[in-house]
Amino acid sequence: MATADLKVTLAGLLALQKVDQETRRIQQRIQEMPQILERRGERFRQSEARVATALARILDLKKQAGLAELEVKGKDAEIAKIQGAQGQSRTNEEFRAFGEHVTRLKKDTRAIEDRILEHLTQVESIERELIDLQSTRAALQKEVDVDLVQWKKDEAEYRAELAERAKHRAEQAKSIPAGPLSVYDRVLRVRDGKAMVPADSRICGGCSMSITANDYARLHTGNELVLCRSCERILYLAETTAASW
Ligand SMILES: [Zn+2]
Repeated sequence: MATADLKVTLAGLLALQKVDQETRRIQQRIQEMPQILERRGERFRQSEARVATALARILDLKKQAGLAELEVKGKDAEIAKIQGAQGQSRTNEEFRAFGEHVTRLKKDTRAIEDRILEHLTQVESIERELIDLQSTRAALQKEVDVDLVQWKKDEAEYRAELAERAKHRAEQAKSIPAGPLSVYDRVLRVRDGKAMVPADSRICGGCSMSITANDYARLHTGNELVLCRSCERILYLAETTAASW
């Protein structure tokens, strides 16, 4: 291959790499976005779980308060019954015994009423927290919805752009000889989208390994593709390709 031809080939490959790197960025964006959306969705689900926990707690406390109220009613009925019997007492001892029983029951009732009050105070406090929890949930829900709509739109645009780029790339690749093109394609695949690297200062621009004197001389002669012996990327000299741009 003549020097001028190789220069043109290298310049063509560099141009192709530019297109390929852009394409790769778009593909990565398409790939990453669902994960970003997923993380935001996870925040929404956590917020939803906190609302559910608060609601369940309120329900439980109200149920406990309801049961305690039934207990109070039972005690009140028992007290009324005993007070009725007390009225029929035949002796002072009997009267006193009924009286003591009523006192004990009333004390029990007060304890239960204290418990009810405690439950209801807790319900009020959780209900206040719930307002914040629900507004956070609503905000996150809105965020998730908006993100999803936006992403669907963006994704469609990205995919259309990729299709357009693929056509453009195929056209561009036609001007590059099959041999160098297949080397480029192979290296691009295994080297994370970076197949062409500058080799000025005798250092590989891809892996930073030194370039042998022999390879450096071959680069300057410019008769063949020179690959880095360490990372196998295609080396080029910025000074010699610059003229072809
Ligand atoms: Zn290298």
